[in-house]
Amino acid sequence: MGGGPTASTLATLLARAGKRAVIFHLAKRTPLVVGESLVPAIIPMLRLLGVEEQVKSFSTFKPGATINVGPKVNFSFPFDQLKMTLPKYAYNVPRDKFDEALLENAKKAGAKVIESAANVERVSGTDRVRLSDENVQGSWRRTVRSPRPHC
Ligand SMILES: Cc1cc2nc3c(=O)[nH]c(=O)nc-3n(C[C@H](O)[C@H](O)[C@H](O)COP(=O)(O)OP(=O)(O)OC[C@H]3O[C@@H](n4cnc5c(N)ncnc54)[C@H](O)[C@@H]3O)c2cc1C
Repeated sequence: MGGGPTASTLATLLARAGKRAVIFHLAKRTPLVVGESLVPAIIPMLRLLGVEEQVKSFSTFKPGATINVGPKVNFSFPFDQLKMTLPKYAYNVPRDKFDEALLENAKKAGAKVIESAANVERVSGTDRVRLSDENVQGSWRRTVRSPRPHC
């Protein structure tokens, strides 16, 4: 749900696995979207999705990080000095382009994107929510008419 990195990644992997994936995505965004500074653990996922080169093309290479621990104290470290099997770099990404790249990738994989907000409703007597019947029926109807929409 929502055209954020989580939904787009999950939808891509599900569609590749032959599952029917539908994303409800309201294109209108809030003015401020946080989460631009990626960490090395994300790189293997970008490779799995096949988007690393695209992300690299609009992002800033990030060889390390600086943590601000006080008004005048910064703690900086390059990733290549860390003992880890992960790639020794990451990227700072503009979130609008990053989210768009992952959403387009999901579409290419065969996921369907419905340009509207999803209506979720509480499952009575539980702490769970589920898609409204209208949304489930709507996405099903549109999916059977067009097996690979937006591709
Ligand atoms: C202050 C702050 C700083 C952060 N800094 C970093 C950082 O530097 N680096 C980093 O990696 N992470 C950072 N994060 C975390 C990062 O922002 C999140 O991990 C990431 O955005 C989660 O992605 P997501 O796809 O799960 O959710 P989101 O990015 O929130 O995407 C979910 C989307 O779903 C939409 N949506 C919600 N409800 C519906 C609905 N009913 N129908 C349709 N659409 C809907 C929302 O509008 C949104 O666009 C930060 C978070 C905060 C709060």
